[in-house]
Amino acid sequence: MPDVSGIRRLHRERFGQEPEVFMAPGRVNLIGEHTDYADGFVMPAAINFATLAAVSPAADRNATLFSRNFNESVSLSLDLIGEHGSHHWSDYPFGVLSVLQQERISVPGFHLTLDGDVPLGAGLSSSASIEVASMLAMLHVAGVELPLPKVALLCQRAENDYVGAPCGIMDQFVSCCGAADHALLLDCRSLGYRLAPIPKHLSLVICNTMVKHSHAGGEYGTRRAEVEEGTAILRRHRPEIRLLRDATVDDLKRWGHEMPPNVLKRCRHIITDSNRTVAAADALEAKDLATVGRLMAEAHASYRDDFEASCPEADIMVELANKLEGCVGARLTGGGFGGCTVNLVESNHAAQFAASISAAYEKATGIHPEIYQSRASAGAHKVGQDVVVSHR
Ligand code: ADP
Ligand code: MG
Repeated sequence: MPDVSGIRRLHRERFGQEPEVFMAPGRVNLIGEHTDYADGFVMPAAINFATLAAVSPAADRNATLFSRNFNESVSLSLDLIGEHGSHHWSDYPFGVLSVLQQERISVPGFHLTLDGDVPLGAGLSSSASIEVASMLAMLHVAGVELPLPKVALLCQRAENDYVGAPCGIMDQFVSCCGAADHALLLDCRSLGYRLAPIPKHLSLVICNTMVKHSHAGGEYGTRRAEVEEGTAILRRHRPEIRLLRDATVDDLKRWGHEMPPNVLKRCRHIITDSNRTVAAADALEAKDLATVGRLMAEAHASYRDDFEASCPEADIMVELANKLEGCVGARLTGGGFGGCTVNLVESNHAAQFAASISAAYEKATGIHPEIYQSRASAGAHKVGQDVVVSHR
């Protein structure tokens, strides 16, 4: 987490007022990929990289923002917020403000200082963390409290409508409701969730392949179309199948031959990955780490072979991880075609794991990776005056 006393000082120096400070974490998805839009299950964890938002009321009717990350200040009248962004970092806080205004929550003029250590654009959802931290800060100056799942839904709406990014609910939900030393099993249909304990002796090591293949956007569209095609075929036989959440592996065995081979594979990934996600939560609860590791390996293979959303660099990173001491499980996380792998690693081996995988990946690919060591961490909250921040 960034320096809390630092952001207080920065806010005081810039705006001459003592702020309240709110934090919201980034996240990593442990298992359950592309299952969200099929109304299936995902299991992310909040990480100990976060955005801090320091806020105080202003005398005027302006929303004045300062991002320490961009070393830039932006100010806009509350009456001119509009409904769409301008491809600038301020879209995230202004989008949140726009949604609160749509909800008829009257946010007065305010000063907001932002500082985050979630790597930007690395797939660890700095976007959800800045949205959630900003929303808690704005709700504070408005004097309004909302349940955290509602905050998550409103932040998702800000990202979908104002920023213009068609994300699901997972990122904002776990940034709001995550808990220290727990993963969060989320039912993307009901938004019901349950916390599954991650043993204290395990770390989350996130390895950034530093590649994002440019065809990712197009492939995402193709995958969604294939999944819809397969769902429609199953629905002809069982009309109650609205989305793949309602379908089973048996349905695929009976009617999969009616699908083009690629469509069958995509559907098989989603149905089995959603099942694996629930099984992984059960295994964490049973402290059965061998099963968690096996499920992560199966999930990676399914993502690679059935969903065909991996890439050579990610496969190399996972293969290397599986050979290292202390590795419980490894897989590609996120939307695919590059990005980060997530690794559950025994904490006493985590530093050596990070050093070894970094060297081996660079040797194999010529690319220097970034490695982030984390623990499953608490969701969004107000940060007290006297909090002593423990650095990683
Ligand atoms: P990811 O969510 O994977 O990090 P996104 O592209 O969805 O990547 O979101 C990253 C963007 O969020 C940044 O480019 C920036 O516009 C905004 N952002 C995140 N954190 C901050 C911050 N502390 N200050 C200003 N903007 C931020
Ligand atoms: Mg994002």
